Amino acid sequence: MKVPLSSPDIIEKDIEAVVGVMKTRFLSIGPKVVEFEKKMSSFSGTKYAVAVNSGTSALHLIIRGMGIGEGDVVVTTPFSFIASSNCILFERARPLFVDIEEGTLNLDADKVEKKLESLSGEELAKVKALLVVDAFGQPADWVRFTEIAKRYNLLLIEDSAEALGSEYKGKKCGSFGEAGVFAFYPNKQISTGEGGILVTDDAELARLARSIRSQGRGESGEWLDHERLGYNFRMDELSSALGCSQMERIEEILDKRTKVAEMYNEKLSEVEEVQVPYIAPYVSRMSWFVYVIRLDKYINRDRVIEYLNQEGVQCKPYFTPIHLQPFYRKMFGFKEGDFPITEDVSGRTIALPFFNNLKEEQIDYVVEKLKKSILLFS
Ligand SMILES: *Cc1c(COP(=O)(O)O)cnc(C)c1O
Repeated sequence: MKVPLSSPDIIEKDIEAVVGVMKTRFLSIGPKVVEFEKKMSSFSGTKYAVAVNSGTSALHLIIRGMGIGEGDVVVTTPFSFIASSNCILFERARPLFVDIEEGTLNLDADKVEKKLESLSGEELAKVKALLVVDAFGQPADWVRFTEIAKRYNLLLIEDSAEALGSEYKGKKCGSFGEAGVFAFYPNKQISTGEGGILVTDDAELARLARSIRSQGRGESGEWLDHERLGYNFRMDELSSALGCSQMERIEEILDKRTKVAEMYNEKLSEVEEVQVPYIAPYVSRMSWFVYVIRLDKYINRDRVIEYLNQEGVQCKPYFTPIHLQPFYRKMFGFKEGDFPITEDVSGRTIALPFFNNLKEEQIDYVVEKLKKSILLFS
């Protein structure tokens, strides 16, 4: 049996939606992107949404739009997909990493406070923002981070790329802080092929983001009038139509994913050497992005992954810490031991196959092979 790590859920209606666009004259800058933005702002409970060509572009627009740049510092997590930190580097600012919580795998609010307290006045003045990630779909502790951002007068950015539909105490992810993002690469909860979106209540940030995503054009939209330096970060009409079609069944998609996660939880509950994902009590709804287990320390994780892949179970270590990526080591001198919890977790985690239509017999196969590999490599 072969079980892929992830697999997009495309139905006939999605295909018709994209084909429908191909039959019109509008392949870019048309009505579908506007419709998709409306759907996303209404879903996330924010006033504005600006659709772009990737989640990374959405993050970059936030950093640029907030005026964060050379000499500035942004507090963030080293346990994430690399884009959440790279967006800071794009604008020549510097990430200040703080370690994560062992349970939720999110940025540790206590450690962030301690770090900020320990900085000198001069160092503290450089810190402009707090960029918090909802890791693997789990909301971070937003009451704490909102309070810290207010106390230190920092901009608060939510990387909710993995958390479409998750809720913290009844409030949707993406709606915390000054701005948030969602991402639509095919392994995310919904996909547009490539794509991302910036969500915010800040009219000025939304206006700037719209301009910068389209070559710095002004509000008149005149094709050859450029008010500022911009990029081409636009989302096209085909992608937007796919996004609209997927959002029409978002509740069904999230429910399917919850069922798959619950099946894994149940079947793995008897496997002592495996820790299933921990969900914090303040999470009122969990939108599952990936299903990441943690192995006991004495098990050789890399051999387990190798064995599972050989047996047709596609799986990956999730994540390699950002500070240990080669160019971060080189640029900033990071080394092993800098963020011990992040490093410990990242040495023991495995993302198992996880997607909407994963079947029970496939899960049984994954669990059977996992159990066998644990016997072999402990
Ligand atoms: C997926 C993801 C992004 C954005 O990814 P793109 O591939 O650029 O759409 C950003 N941050 C995190 C945490 C992600 O998982």
